[in-house]
Amino acid sequence: MRAVNVTIAVVAILLALKWVVQLWLERLNRRHVLAHAGAVPEVLREIIDDKTYARTVEYTLAKSRLHRFELTASVLVLAAVLFSGALPWTFGWFRDRIGDSAWALGAYLFLVGLALSLTGLPLEWYAQFRLEERFGFNTTTQKLWWLDRLKGLLLSLILGYPLLVLVLKLVTWTGRWWWLWAWGALLVFQVVMAVLAPVLILPLFNKFTPLPEGSLRERLLRLADRTRFRAKSIQVMDGSKRSRHSNAFFTGFGRFRRIVLFDTLIQHLAEPELEAVLAHEIGHYKRRHIPKMLAAGALGSLVGFYCVAWLARQAWFYQAFGFTPGNVTPALLLFGLLAGVATFWLSPLAHAWSRRYEYQADAFAAQTMQEPRSLIGALRKLNEKNLSNLTPHPLYSGFYYSHPTLLERETALRGL
Ligand SMILES: [Zn+2]
Repeated sequence: MRAVNVTIAVVAILLALKWVVQLWLERLNRRHVLAHAGAVPEVLREIIDDKTYARTVEYTLAKSRLHRFELTASVLVLAAVLFSGALPWTFGWFRDRIGDSAWALGAYLFLVGLALSLTGLPLEWYAQFRLEERFGFNTTTQKLWWLDRLKGLLLSLILGYPLLVLVLKLVTWTGRWWWLWAWGALLVFQVVMAVLAPVLILPLFNKFTPLPEGSLRERLLRLADRTRFRAKSIQVMDGSKRSRHSNAFFTGFGRFRRIVLFDTLIQHLAEPELEAVLAHEIGHYKRRHIPKMLAAGALGSLVGFYCVAWLARQAWFYQAFGFTPGNVTPALLLFGLLAGVATFWLSPLAHAWSRRYEYQADAFAAQTMQEPRSLIGALRKLNEKNLSNLTPHPLYSGFYYSHPTLLERETALRGL
């Protein structure tokens, strides 16, 4: 009984701690931004004009307000779900009616996940149609937005649900070492998705058209040639259908690789700037950032599966949340709900790692272009178009920024 009470107390404390620290980080960042809000800071004078700067401050503060509300709402929902007894009750009800098969238990997990994601829907809607709208970023229609949600739901039903069932089947098929098998199955699934997603899934949401013949295409192909980056094609994605935020990326492996540019990117950037952005992306590839990130992710999911298998053997863990030991499903569910209270504290580490890669990709781009100006020009424009916060508190950016700020990147590029 003591272990049960301690477990409840520890989980409650971890939830509260994460919530308090996140609110505190928001406050810290808000104050930091407000302290610099009066006038463009000296070091940024050359980078940004007064009007745009004022708007980045406004956008940052508005996002922070929404984020604070979101934090509190989600911790309340999670606490209610965990401590009200709703989970064991619905689990018992479901098993009595639908049964104990992997298909039934997988359906239970899927439905709980669906119900929880529905609670976040109103805020997502608000973020898109109120916040983003107010700052002129939203270009999505209500119809398209709901259609996207529906497609996402169907995709998770077709892809995610069978994967859940497979994991549960592996528990009965392979016994004690099921978690290793489940991990292997997840890896295979991820590789298959990485190959198929660009061909089968992305086109469900966006239109991809080949970049038309012309000077831009020639320039980018020359760049790919120069850096020995083989790509099947250069595609333009109609990102403007949903948002004015812009981006560039590539998808697929080996000879299936495709370079994708948002149409919004092409609208805003000059040709050398676009070339520099693509050079940055190629830099990620050349420095092998992608396989390294994938390996880290795979290691993370291995640890995750091991934890689930271990928790599934701990009677006190089940009892703390009102479950009877003996089935792995509640452990999977509880782990899914609680993993965030642990991984949150690792985010500064993950982000520091990711920021290091950004600097490396920037350096690669500057080397390839033989000048840093084009990339700097592109970053400035992107920053302006996205109204990114230029003065985050260092602790805040540690927890939330996967990319260095514009000023940090410029300073690094000029120092090369
Ligand atoms: Zn990057």
